[in-house]
Amino acid sequence: MAWRETLDPYRIWVSEIMLQQTRVETVAPYYERFLLEFPDVGSLARASLDDVLKAWEGLGYYSRARNLHKTAGILVARHGARVPRTVEALLALPGIGRSTAGAIAAIAFGADAPILDANARRVVARLFAVEGDPRSGRVERVLWERSASLVRKGKGRDTALAVMDLGAVVCLPNAPRCRECPLRSCCSSCLRGLQDSIPPKRAKKMIPHHDVVAAVFRRTDGAMFLMRRPSDGLLGGLWAFPSGKRDPGESLEDALRRSLREKLRVRAVLQSEVGAVRHAYSHYRITLHGFLCEMSGGALPAGEGTGWLPGHGEGTFALPRADRMLVEFIHREEGR
Ligand code: SF4
Repeated sequence: MAWRETLDPYRIWVSEIMLQQTRVETVAPYYERFLLEFPDVGSLARASLDDVLKAWEGLGYYSRARNLHKTAGILVARHGARVPRTVEALLALPGIGRSTAGAIAAIAFGADAPILDANARRVVARLFAVEGDPRSGRVERVLWERSASLVRKGKGRDTALAVMDLGAVVCLPNAPRCRECPLRSCCSSCLRGLQDSIPPKRAKKMIPHHDVVAAVFRRTDGAMFLMRRPSDGLLGGLWAFPSGKRDPGESLEDALRRSLREKLRVRAVLQSEVGAVRHAYSHYRITLHGFLCEMSGGALPAGEGTGWLPGHGEGTFALPRADRMLVEFIHREEGR
């Protein structure tokens, strides 16, 4: 893990944000590319949000990228372009919660700060046989106390890294490797045979599925019309085809015509379905149906918040995964 080979606070901050809710293998190539493009706080602050989102495209949870960009600006304006050293100062920055602040302070600056990310939560709960839902307020308070009790004076960095590594490699969610664990002789769960029931398994939630219809307007040079999503919502700041969700009982075509009327105040002739792609986001799944459209009334919006993705598909636009898949599908069909 490249982020383990540095004590540079900027790099550690970037890695900790990327690792929130994302697996190490997924993060690794993004981390390398991101740092090549934005090697320090100043370059990140000077970059456009579009460039930052483009570098983040595919990593998901885009509010993290928006917050990194915003925070870089704050660091330049108020902290001399440096990542602050204390948990309190870190907590005041966008996108940094208590565990991330603890991890940055401990790893980058050697502070004796506890952490409690998803892996640490599991390790600490098992080590001290803390029963109950680790995300409930009461249990979480106990876990923070226990996590803090693990930190020896002057050993904050070692403790944070050890807990993280143990959770990533040994104390695995479904099959903890207790026989290989250096803590097995002092782990309450292991000694009492509770390691498979702590933390309790969460009931699987039904993941809803939505049919979403997208309008593909093309220029004669093959470029495709995109609109920027509102910055504060889901997939905020990304560029996407004009689209809408199909209501129950509605045909795909009617759903698209309605959405274009409601959102863009235009009428369009739907020529053909150019492709359909499926994608699972964190809390829902979609099938995105793309329809080649031609205007029949009104005019496509122009200017701020609108753009044309070049026919070859490259450019500076960061697209949600499903929209990117649809572009790739269209290009494959065209033999590009
Ligand atoms: S002994 Fe088992 S349950 Fe306990 S910390 Fe190690 S891997 Fe986890």
